[in-house]
Amino acid sequence: MSIYLDNAATTKPCREAVKAACDCMEENFGNPSSLHRAGLAAQLAVDNVRKIIAKAIAADPSCIYFTSGATESNNIALIGAAGAYGKRKPKIITTSIEHSSVEKTMEYLEQNGFEVVRISPDRNGMISHEQIINAVDESTCLVSMMMVNNETGYILPVRRSFYGIKKLYPQCVTHCDAVQGFMKMPFKVSELGADIISFSGHKVHAGKGVGGLYVKKGIRLEPRIFGGGQEKGIRSGTENVPMIASLGAAVKALNASVSERYKKAEELKAKLCAKISAIDGIYINSHEDASPYIINISVPGIRSEIMLHFLEERNIFVSSGSACSKGAKSGVLKEFGINDNFADSALRISTSHETTATELSKLISSIQEAMETLVKA
Ligand code: PMP
Repeated sequence: MSIYLDNAATTKPCREAVKAACDCMEENFGNPSSLHRAGLAAQLAVDNVRKIIAKAIAADPSCIYFTSGATESNNIALIGAAGAYGKRKPKIITTSIEHSSVEKTMEYLEQNGFEVVRISPDRNGMISHEQIINAVDESTCLVSMMMVNNETGYILPVRRSFYGIKKLYPQCVTHCDAVQGFMKMPFKVSELGADIISFSGHKVHAGKGVGGLYVKKGIRLEPRIFGGGQEKGIRSGTENVPMIASLGAAVKALNASVSERYKKAEELKAKLCAKISAIDGIYINSHEDASPYIINISVPGIRSEIMLHFLEERNIFVSSGSACSKGAKSGVLKEFGINDNFADSALRISTSHETTATELSKLISSIQEAMETLVKA
């Protein structure tokens, strides 16, 4: 039996999600754009998932759009909003700890004449809402801020920042990459103050290649993908109906227990951190009040990849930094003030509601075994 502790990279699809995708492929394979009954059935299935997602974040179903995942959602949101609102307001505010699908899109926008201001964490590795709000001015068209950092679990002050911004500059568009918070911590769109929210299916026990956007009524996005005009023209292309069905089934299965699962994750994290604190040579990089689902640690002296493969041999799967960077040295950890020695040996442990205390105990004893054998070697 393997111990899977890389849930920030991807999650195991739940039984409900697998069944919904299979049922859809076997029995509801129509194209939602077709005018006959088979098309209508597929369209109804997609619209039903729109309702499920909308209910989960207290939004109107007409504000939910499906994409191929959060990378596409972030690209559509940022390029789309900058295109629609940035003609005379070329400034964009974001943070220096965003996922590459935001950071690389910001680089693209910079190459296209926008001024991007990246707010870095302070000496304590924190970003305050004042830092964000103070960076916004009359010439700012867009602010983008993630909900939970995917490498350390740091929870950003999105709500306070967006409220402050909207008070001063109601026309400024706010976007939140909520991938690591969606279905993990409860939030309502009305309370977040975000005009646009990105989410992904495969981080919430649905299939890969599906995600979406919440776009507040009245917010315009200049399209980037042209074609049949699906998803009200924001994202042309035939909808991935089976994976959308899997997303609906996963969200339906998880939605009632978001707070309960968060509490359980907190308890597990507390136990894990207590164990780590009692061992010399292992350090916790994540903040105490970070998301309980992501715990970033360092074992200085043992490079991340070496430890990762040592654990893999014992059927324990963790990540070195961010899975998206494929083991490349993480610039984000540096932004958090984590020094090279710690960053080179950083491991990301990311749990799910299926993780047990026994699994985490096995992880710790295996890390200790590595410290005894590898450091001496
Ligand atoms: N944003 C964040 C914070 C993420 O963690 C990820 C996935 N690593 C993405 C965006 C991209 O999501 P997807 O894999 O669905 O494209």
